Amino acid sequence: MVKPKKQRRVLYPPRFYFFKPAGVPASKLETVNLTIDEYEAVRLVDIENLNHLESAKSMQISRPTFTRLLDSAHKKIGSAIINGYAISIEGGSFIFVNNAYRCRKCGYEWDLKIDERKKNIRTEENCPSCNEEDIENMEDILKKQGRGRAHHHGRRDWRGGL
Ligand SMILES: [Zn+2]
Repeated sequence: MVKPKKQRRVLYPPRFYFFKPAGVPASKLETVNLTIDEYEAVRLVDIENLNHLESAKSMQISRPTFTRLLDSAHKKIGSAIINGYAISIEGGSFIFVNNAYRCRKCGYEWDLKIDERKKNIRTEENCPSCNEEDIENMEDILKKQGRGRAHHHGRRDWRGGL
């Protein structure tokens, strides 16, 4: 029997989930998929400057597993940059610790810790800045991306984290 893969802790959903090289015709474009747990491995080491052991603890996996995950991520990113592949960020075995939201009206962004008892339910319904109800839920968007690959957004105008 195959043991189900343990879900890896990912602190925040990615703000960007599709990258594409300029000048490659769509018919020739190949896409490499970076999983969301691979994305988190890169973020912890390259952005947060954690070492492999600290990163492994953050994701609740072993240090060797973390190192393999990071190696896989770097290889994919490297191959995309060198060979001109697009990169999609989706899928993998993960659980978000926080969710990210953006107001469709004023562009305000905020993070909320996911309440495990009512996962996927917006705990604050309206934009904290302008009280707009029409807000984007990044976790939901990523789940939809994972189901169908029909449309990708070339660029999303999320700023960095809070
Ligand atoms: Zn707003």
